[in-house]
Amino acid sequence: MAERLHEGERIFRGIPVSTGVCRGKILILDKPRHMVVQRQLSDAEVPGELERLDNTFRQTRQQVLEVQRKVTESVGAEQGSIFDAHLLVLEDPVLIEETVKLIREQKINVEHAFQTVAERYTTALANVDDEYLRERASDMRDVTARVLNNLIGHEEEVDLRHLKEPCIIIAHDLTPSKTALLDRRQVLGFATDIGSKTSHTAIMARSLRIPAVVGLKNASGELKTGQFVLLDGFNGVVVIHPTDQTLFEYGQIVRRQATLEEKLREVVGQPAVTLDNHRVCLSANVEQVGDTDAVKAAGAEGIGLFRTEYLFINRDAPPGEEEQFQAYRQAAVALKPQPVVIRTLDLGGDKLLSSLAVPTEMNPFLGWRAIRFCLEQVDIFRAQLRAILRASAEGNVKMMYPMISGLDELNQANALLAKCKDELRAGNVPFNDRMEVGAMIETPSAALVADSLARRVQFFSLGTNDLIQYTLAVDRMNEKIAHLYEPTHPAILRLIKHTADTAHANKIWVSVCGEMAGDPVMVPLLIGLGVDELSATPSLIAQIKYLIRRLKITEARELAAFALECESPSEIAARCQQLVQRAAPGLFEK
Ligand code: PEP
Ligand code: MG
Repeated sequence: MAERLHEGERIFRGIPVSTGVCRGKILILDKPRHMVVQRQLSDAEVPGELERLDNTFRQTRQQVLEVQRKVTESVGAEQGSIFDAHLLVLEDPVLIEETVKLIREQKINVEHAFQTVAERYTTALANVDDEYLRERASDMRDVTARVLNNLIGHEEEVDLRHLKEPCIIIAHDLTPSKTALLDRRQVLGFATDIGSKTSHTAIMARSLRIPAVVGLKNASGELKTGQFVLLDGFNGVVVIHPTDQTLFEYGQIVRRQATLEEKLREVVGQPAVTLDNHRVCLSANVEQVGDTDAVKAAGAEGIGLFRTEYLFINRDAPPGEEEQFQAYRQAAVALKPQPVVIRTLDLGGDKLLSSLAVPTEMNPFLGWRAIRFCLEQVDIFRAQLRAILRASAEGNVKMMYPMISGLDELNQANALLAKCKDELRAGNVPFNDRMEVGAMIETPSAALVADSLARRVQFFSLGTNDLIQYTLAVDRMNEKIAHLYEPTHPAILRLIKHTADTAHANKIWVSVCGEMAGDPVMVPLLIGLGVDELSATPSLIAQIKYLIRRLKITEARELAAFALECESPSEIAARCQQLVQRAAPGLFEK
């Protein structure tokens, strides 16, 4: 949403997701599809447009055949045959003839003519009674999107790993797999039209320490590559053509931040202990093996969440056991004797793997993801479990399962783990038979059956990002309803409290590894509710520790007691804010 600030500048406001300020030229990625414009053709242009249609269909057919070949090779013929339906769409004579007719008779440019015909067909298919035909609508959508992309000639794919010059990336969406590729030396910051604080793109931005703003609605459509902007990741603002006055004001913010960071460096080597001697374990969330240096530099006590999905994306085939073993081993050895909690594969939701043909789903976050996927794709799961077990012989490795929604899944996963142990034992392969195994509590059902789960694991880790979205029925990716995504909702606090109490009653420990643990304002509330460990991205560890060292556990518990009685999320949030402002005012000056 654009507005004016100083004379000559425009400002877009969104959701701040990764702190820092940067300025530079922008690079726009993937313009949204609604940019297809209608253009009236002259008679002379018609043959050229028809030829473009023909060439594009040929190009698209080749692309689909190539994808089909790759999928068949890596996953199997059955999955590869899914693309037969896409090829059939490309051979549909009616689709082609109607587009040709629009170009010839109404003299409409090929992109617009094709989009019009394709939309008419997709809508008609989506509304018929026949289930088989309805399913064809999604094939139709997929293929027509591909044809349109080819027709529009989307700027040739930018190689995100090797950018030519420093830039601020602006995109409609930046998937986690693209974010993982970003050339850290050249990307000053990034901003997207959609997304929210807990989307994995935002999480990656914090992990990479790149200032970022999401939820800018239509920035990628309105802005142009090469424009000069200032991006403010503290307040969620992108200023186009900033004036000298604005740049000066932001210079002061950057200087204040540098002073704060100086102060924070002093606590790096100190324990996370409150003024009245309550110890909190503070560990780090990581996405890549190489992040262990950042974990150490941040003064974290090991890794509380290793998101293994990033080993699986941006590649043609899933990594095998040996490759995974080397990765997990490297992290375990680097941090030994500190723990490394490896989370088994949490594919799905917004983290999709290019190497696996996972069908498009209506509700990916409610679909075939995480443990559900692993329990069906046993070969993939088995390779990962064996790799983690083998790494457990080399350091302090723990393991946890994501998205547990009931006891059956946990029992099945544990049964497979026991089988893997038997195999390793039989092959004399070393592993730690007492490796701790945990369940993530990120569905309301898991929190409510925590007593059953607690008897079968050695720890819990609350994934508040998902727990909030599933409990409140608020899509964590959707900026339109971001205001409803309330960590201080009484339902969330009761589930956290119930989970912590149940864990302790069963003599197991409980951590929070969702983004709530990395929000200093939420920290007193979480420790007051009884969680033993907080796990956050390395860049936030020092702030959290600084705050904990200025708090008393008694005031955190009083806050939690108040929150559990209070009915209003905003009143609870205000109390949390008051407490942290009083305890560590320096943290919140910006
Ligand atoms: C969570 O859901 O809080 C979590 C830590 O897992 P992820 O963000 O990877 O879904
Ligand atoms: Mg999760």
